[in-house]
Amino acid sequence: MEAQSEVQSSHNSSETTNLRVRGWDDLTDGQQLCLNWAREQDWDRIKGYAKEHGPEVLLGAFAEECIDEEWEVFSVLSLASQYGNVEMVKLTLEAGFNNNESMYTAAMISMNISDNSIILRMLLEHGLDPNMDLRVEGLLRKSSNLLVLAAERRHIDQAIALLDHGANVNKEVVSMHGHVLSPLNCTFIDGAHDLCRLVLTRGAIPTTNDVYLVFCICLKACKGKNPRLSRDVAIKMFATFLHLGKPDSDVVRDKFNLNHPSYCDPTITNITKHYLQGRPFCCFICEALTAKERDKLLMCPCRNVAYCSRECQLKHWREHRLQCAGPLNERGESEAMVKKRSKTGKGMKGGGADVGGADVGVAEGAVATGKNGATGKNGKKGKKGRGKKK
Ligand SMILES: [Zn+2]
Ligand SMILES: [Zn+2]
Ligand SMILES: [Zn+2]
Repeated sequence: MEAQSEVQSSHNSSETTNLRVRGWDDLTDGQQLCLNWAREQDWDRIKGYAKEHGPEVLLGAFAEECIDEEWEVFSVLSLASQYGNVEMVKLTLEAGFNNNESMYTAAMISMNISDNSIILRMLLEHGLDPNMDLRVEGLLRKSSNLLVLAAERRHIDQAIALLDHGANVNKEVVSMHGHVLSPLNCTFIDGAHDLCRLVLTRGAIPTTNDVYLVFCICLKACKGKNPRLSRDVAIKMFATFLHLGKPDSDVVRDKFNLNHPSYCDPTITNITKHYLQGRPFCCFICEALTAKERDKLLMCPCRNVAYCSRECQLKHWREHRLQCAGPLNERGESEAMVKKRSKTGKGMKGGGADVGGADVGVAEGAVATGKNGATGKNGKKGKKGRGKKK
C-alpha cells in the first residue's frame, strides 16, 4: 500500500523534461558522422575516425521522440550495445562517455537482447546508476527499473551485477496495465525459483501485494492452469518465499483465507499452516521439502528446524547451537524449560539427552501435521548463553 502511493506520487513529474540529452543539431559534425556510421554498424570507420580526431567524437547522445511523448536516446554506446559490440562499448566508455540516460538505455537494450552481463557490468563500472528511472527523467511514460527487467527476463547474472552495484531490491514500478511490479514478484510469474531466492537473500521484503500474488500464481500453477509454471516449481518457490521472505503472519493468514477451499492445494495448505504455527516445513538451509535419503525431513531435537541432510544440518549448526533449545522430554518441554521449572522447585530434571547437532533423527514429513506445535512466530526462541559445548 505504502509503496503503491509512493510510486504514484512521482507520477506528475514528467514535466521535468531532460536537459542533459541534446538534440541532433547540438552534436558536433564528428559526433554526427560517428552516429551515422554506428547505425550502419561501420565500427572500423568509427574507430579510425576517433583515433584521428580524438575520443570526443564518440560522446554524442541525442534524444528522439519515437512514439507519443516517449523518447529514445541514441548514441554510439547504445547502438554498440544493441548490436552486442563489447569492444565498441568499452571504447566509448573509456573515451569518457557519461550521459546517464544513454547509459541506462544501453543497459536496457543489452538486457533485452542477451542474458550475459558483460556490457551491463561495464556500464555499471563506469557509473551507471542502477536505480535510475527513465519516467522520472521524463523520457518514458511508464516507470522502468533495471532489476525488474532482469527478473522479468530471468537473467540472473544481470540481476547479480545490478545488486552488486547497489540496485534497490525493493524498488517497485507500475506496469502499463497498472500492476505493481517488484523484482520479487516478477520472479513468481514464470517460476524463476533461482531469482526468487536471490532477491530474498539480498533483502527483498515481501509486501502485502507480493503475498497475495504468490498465492494466486502458485495455486493457479498447482491446478495445472499456468503453462509456464509447473506444480513442483510453484511449491518449491512458495516454500522459499515463506522461509526466506518471512512475510507477516497476519497477512499470510488473510491472503490464504481469500482462496476458496476447493481452489486450495493440500501441500500449499500444509506449508502455510506450518508457517503460521512456527513449525519447520522445509530444509532450513536449502528449502528442500524432503530429505535426500527418504521423504521425511530430519528434525533437530528441538523441533524448531528441519534439514534435508546431514550436510545442511552441519552448515547450520554453528549458528543454531546458540538457539537450539535441545530435545523435548515426554511432556513436550525443552531442557531449558525444565531447568526454569526446577529452579522454582517443582518437578523433575531433564533426561540429560545430548543436544549435539548429530542427534537429529526425529523424522517429520514436510507436510505432516504433528502435534508438537512450536511457539513463537518462526519457531525460534532465542536461548542464548546455554553454553553447552559439543
Ligand atoms: Zn533472455
Ligand atoms: Zn538442505
Ligand atoms: Zn535445534
